[in-house]
Amino acid sequence: MTSGKQKRQILDARRKAKSEDERLRVQAEKNDKARTAIANLEAVLVKREALAPSNSYGEPDFVTRGYYVDQTFQCPRCEVVETWRATQQKWWYEVAKGSVYSSARYCTACRRKRREGRWREEDSQIVQRKIFAGLGIILPPSPPRVSPPSLPQ
Ligand SMILES: [Zn+2]
Repeated sequence: MTSGKQKRQILDARRKAKSEDERLRVQAEKNDKARTAIANLEAVLVKREALAPSNSYGEPDFVTRGYYVDQTFQCPRCEVVETWRATQQKWWYEVAKGSVYSSARYCTACRRKRREGRWREEDSQIVQRKIFAGLGIILPPSPPRVSPPSLPQ
């Protein structure tokens, strides 16, 4: 037979175990969040030793800052506005060993066209503008278009 005291002890022990489980679950969640935050930070940190060597005395802003940030730019060929993601920059400078003084210039679609040999001058709005300007016609600036998000390279 179980006394009232024993019953209370069993209930207390169960309650304790439950709150310990809850404490561990909360801690595990915090650890996961911290790991994710660190991984996100590492994904954009500049790894100096991985950069292409440069014989310039100065250094680009991102090297001084120590991490990459998303940049928006307008393609000079088709005038689309795109974002050059921090992770794409890291890939460009540290994996592809692009010059630290180079940056994204043409949009994804134009770069694909060029790679596939479909870079036709007549596609270029810049060229159209030049032709019209030669005829004395100034085309109004086209509003920046935003391209659909592209997959990282
Ligand atoms: Zn373009």
